[in-house]
Amino acid sequence: MRRVGRNSFTEIYFRGCNPSFVETSDGYVMIDSPQIPIDALRWREMMEEKAPIRYLINTEPHGDHIAGNAYFKGVTVVGQVKLQECFDRYLNQFGSMDEKRERMKTTDPDSVWLVGHPDYLDSNKPSVTFTDELTLHVGQHTFNILHHAGHTGPQTTIHVPEDGVVFTGDNIFHKCRTWLQECDPWEWLDSLRAIEALDVETYVPGHGEPCGKAYLKEQAQIVENWVGLVERFVDRGLSAEDALKEPIEVTKQDPYPIGQNLFPHDQRLTGLIINNLHKRILEKKQQARG
Ligand SMILES: [Zn+2]
Repeated sequence: MRRVGRNSFTEIYFRGCNPSFVETSDGYVMIDSPQIPIDALRWREMMEEKAPIRYLINTEPHGDHIAGNAYFKGVTVVGQVKLQECFDRYLNQFGSMDEKRERMKTTDPDSVWLVGHPDYLDSNKPSVTFTDELTLHVGQHTFNILHHAGHTGPQTTIHVPEDGVVFTGDNIFHKCRTWLQECDPWEWLDSLRAIEALDVETYVPGHGEPCGKAYLKEQAQIVENWVGLVERFVDRGLSAEDALKEPIEVTKQDPYPIGQNLFPHDQRLTGLIINNLHKRILEKKQQARG
């Protein structure tokens, strides 16, 4: 557990994302939920021993940010309106409850009994939604919740001015490999500029250690490197399939290793990135031609 502001904390060593919380004078506000069921329940117990959890705000629809919501039954969940729409579809991408339980036997035996447990069957998707932004006041803290599309369509940033901290979800991967498997890279770059303009010192990324403003340029450069690489393939008339037969120097685009136990996906991720960017660059060129 890392303190990132006077009352703000994040956990960077769980398998999954960096779930976080702010301890206000009127209870807790969480940002994303721990992915592993036993981690989620331990967190809940730790917090509720001191104070109630008022809100859980999700930053994006990827499973490592939302799968743990089920273990916070009764807690009001806040999310961008498109996140509410796609919430269950994203969760179901990881297979049926039986398949998830089978996988859990190897990844986390302590959590097996909690997968599909009758008390935690509801996915607990957002019930409070917003389109562009929403401000919550809880105790002495303000939560400016901002739609910053990029890494995903509903991507959301939470700015807590009293603590001088911003939680970005996966619009920032700090010194671990950046996932561009479904992003709109141009929206992402715009959002990084908006995130940089916020008056804070500390950014809590979706993955990796907390960082400062200086890293935002490097994050943008990694997005630009991938776009540049795939644009050159498109300019040569290569299909995505042909592009993937070319030698691709991953570490020239993004120098960092894949984080948080995601190494089994390292090879596959390059294909996902090339396919997504190839499709988006072609679409953009077609739109430009009218
Ligand atoms: Zn993500």
